Amino acid sequence: MLKGKSAVITGGVRGIGFGIAGEFAKQGADLMLCYRSNDEAAEKALAQLKQYGTKVILAKGDVCDEKFAEESIKKAAEAFGRVDILVNNAGITNDKLILRMSKDDFTKVIDTNLVGTFNFTKYAAAHMSRKKSGRIINLSSVCGVRGNAGQANYSASKAGVIGLTLSNAKELGRRNITVNAIAPGFIDTDMTMALSEKQRELVLGQISLGRYGSVQDVAKTAAFLASDDAAYITGQVIGVDGGIIM
Ligand code: NAD
Repeated sequence: MLKGKSAVITGGVRGIGFGIAGEFAKQGADLMLCYRSNDEAAEKALAQLKQYGTKVILAKGDVCDEKFAEESIKKAAEAFGRVDILVNNAGITNDKLILRMSKDDFTKVIDTNLVGTFNFTKYAAAHMSRKKSGRIINLSSVCGVRGNAGQANYSASKAGVIGLTLSNAKELGRRNITVNAIAPGFIDTDMTMALSEKQRELVLGQISLGRYGSVQDVAKTAAFLASDDAAYITGQVIGVDGGIIM
C-alpha cells in the first residue's frame, strides 16, 4: 500500500504513466502528474483519478527543461509536504534505420528519455536525500538491454537509463533511496499502436506468454517497487515483458 505517500510521475496523463498513476492513487498515494502539452488528456486523467480521493495535481512542461524539473519537485514538495516516489516515465520514439537517422532524430530521443530522467532525478534525489528516504523508478525498455533494429536512438536512450539507474542506486543507497528500472517489452499503448499490424504480429510471435503486456502489468510492478515491501531492492532492472527477452 502507498497510503500517506506522494509521487511525481512524468508523462503521467496517458499510457503506462496514467496506468501507474491509477494504481498509485488506488493504493492511497497523492500525485503530481507531469505532462508536456495535452491539456485535454490531463483534465480527463484528473477527473478519472478523483474517484480514489487522494490529492492529484498537474504540472505542464517539457522534461528536457531542467528548470521545469526543479520547479515540479519544489511544487510537489510544497503541496504534499514531501516527495516519496519519482517515476521517470515520459518517453518518445522516432524510429529510423541508422543510415537515415539525422543527428536531430537521435538527440531529441536522448534528450527526452535520458536527459529528462536525469533532470527529474537530480532534483528529486536532492529532496529525498534531505528526508533520508525515497524511491526512484525509471522506465527503461527491453530495447535498452538487447537493442532493436530501427531504434538506435531509443535503444541508446534506454540503455543510458539503465546506466543512470545503476550509478544512482550506488550513490544514493546510503541515503535510503532505492533506484530501480522497469524494462517493459511490448505494452499496448499509443506508443506501440504506432506500429503496423505486420510489425505487431511479428512481435507477438516472440512473446512467450502469447499476449501483449497491459499498462496494469507495468503499474503493478511500479507499485511494488514504490512500496515498503521493496525496501531492500535497489539497482535492479525488472523485465515486464512476457518472456520476450529470452
Ligand atoms: P505514450 O506515448 O503512450 O506516453 C508517453 C508519455 O510521455 C505521454 O504522456 C507524453 O506526453 C509524455 N512525454 C513525452 N515526451 C515528453 C516530454 N518531453 N516532456 C513531458 N512529457 C513527455 O508511451 P507509453 O507506451 O505509455 O510509454 C511510457 C514509457 O514506457 C516510456 O518511457 C516508454 O519508452 C516506456 N516503454 C514503453 C513500452 C511500450 O511497449 N509501450 C515498452 C518499453 C518501454
